[in-house]
Amino acid sequence: GQVYVGLITDLSYSNPHLSPFDEFQRLKLHPEFKQYLEGGKRVSYGARAITKGGFNSLPKMSFPGGLLLGCDAGTLNFSKIKGSHTAMKSGLLGAEAVFEALKEGKSGEEITSFADRFKDSWLYKELYDERNFGPAMHKFGNVVGGGIAFFEQNILHRSLPFTLHDTIPDYATLKPASEAKKIDYPKPDNTLTFDKLSSVFISNTNHEEDQPVHLKLTDPDIPLKDNLPKYNEPAQRYCPAGVYEVVEAEDGSGKKFQINAQNCVHCKTCDIKDPAQNINWVTPEGGGGPNYPNM
Ligand code: SF4
Repeated sequence: GQVYVGLITDLSYSNPHLSPFDEFQRLKLHPEFKQYLEGGKRVSYGARAITKGGFNSLPKMSFPGGLLLGCDAGTLNFSKIKGSHTAMKSGLLGAEAVFEALKEGKSGEEITSFADRFKDSWLYKELYDERNFGPAMHKFGNVVGGGIAFFEQNILHRSLPFTLHDTIPDYATLKPASEAKKIDYPKPDNTLTFDKLSSVFISNTNHEEDQPVHLKLTDPDIPLKDNLPKYNEPAQRYCPAGVYEVVEAEDGSGKKFQINAQNCVHCKTCDIKDPAQNINWVTPEGGGGPNYPNM
């Protein structure tokens, strides 16, 4: 009797006024989503940055004693939603490679045969064939990029002889706030749409009060000195848990950048999207963080 609903926001977005959390709230008001949510009760909330670069973003997937499995979660193409079947196939290939290594009496070594199994599988071919979809959208926008992707996939049958790459890191894609369209998000109705703080509350997030702050600023002045005037400090919006706030200092000395680290749901968006790359997410004390039920 539960419905799971979520929204993936590409962190390569350029408008610093954008708030992924509020985009998600707005999505729930669309009739297609609303019909499943109306009359229900919000029971949980969470957020996570996901790796979503397809073939071009695959890292080396084996290391001594381990394999990285589960490829390409969340890449969308015209005919199907990829992710689950590719993740399952990489798990199967990993299990076969581990089984073979155990039979050979290996233990704790790097299982390099996984890379060969992957390369010989339909999984590799499928990811390779789709490699230009994401970069085309990111480089040329949804309309032109979507047209290129459609042309490549349906007319050229995925035979483009070259590979497009995403060359701009996500932290470098923001336009100055003064050049970007302002976005007015509607106030939460507390029925289908909610605010960040009540959402974080039901993520069961907990950090011990006296533990060291796990969100470190390399230069504590950058948020107010650079990010605020240029981008209206986007951390206030890209953080889905309301951790970062620009508030008036109690002593009347002006604005201050406040980090409510205890609310952090460990999504790691700040580590990726801060335009100054000034935020370093370090591992908090054991046991701290969100506690998602039913996952
Ligand atoms: S502080 Fe960073 S890691 Fe924590 S919830 Fe906000 S964006 Fe995510």
